[in-house]
Amino acid sequence: MNLILLGPPGAGKGTQAKRLEARFGLKQLSTGDMLRAAVAAGSPVGQRAKEYMDAGKLVPDDVVIGAVDERIEQPDCKAGVIFDGFPRTVPQAEALDSMLGRKGRRLDAVVELKVDSSALVDRVRKRAEETRASGGQVRADDTPETMETRLRVYHEQTSPLIAYYAKRGILKAVDGMATIDKVSEAIEAALPLPKQGRNPA
Ligand code: ADP
Repeated sequence: MNLILLGPPGAGKGTQAKRLEARFGLKQLSTGDMLRAAVAAGSPVGQRAKEYMDAGKLVPDDVVIGAVDERIEQPDCKAGVIFDGFPRTVPQAEALDSMLGRKGRRLDAVVELKVDSSALVDRVRKRAEETRASGGQVRADDTPETMETRLRVYHEQTSPLIAYYAKRGILKAVDGMATIDKVSEAIEAALPLPKQGRNPA
């Protein structure tokens, strides 16, 4: 099963992707994590991505598409992938369609996490505070200013994907304002799983 978690920064995509990964043996593929690792390693992809990421802007499509295309070939992606933070533009969505098609795979579901925009800035601020309190490294882009840009970029460039996938009939909307457990339940209920594939909660 291959699925996309779609939603603005701070919607809880990463949290839910990790839970789905553990529960269904899928692989979380977070382009944000991949790009941060590339920046930390100083690789050519990282060198190209850094300035965009620091500014809260999208890294150019070709960079991200190339990285995903390579990553999903790895054996740990065989059983299925949870795309977290990808696609973020219509060209990325089109590229995903063609790369999955080429590999004889398909997209089974797109789950949109719906969250009030007023809650998002607070969630990201809290994430930065908690990371700081635990002695961790706060993300360079988790600042109120950059968050504003990231939200604007989401509305302008990523939210058109909602209509893109709705037209295909594979979009499911889930209330991302509920508790983490309730959101997980709603996502699971939205997935095209065979009945016997569902474990008791
Ligand atoms: P969030 O969803 O909280 O904004 P991510 O970790 O998904 O954070 O992404 C962080 C940054 O990485 C983005 O602001 C962007 O610069 C870059 N990025 C991640 N995924 C993509 C993508 N699919 N296309 C372009 N840029 C991306």
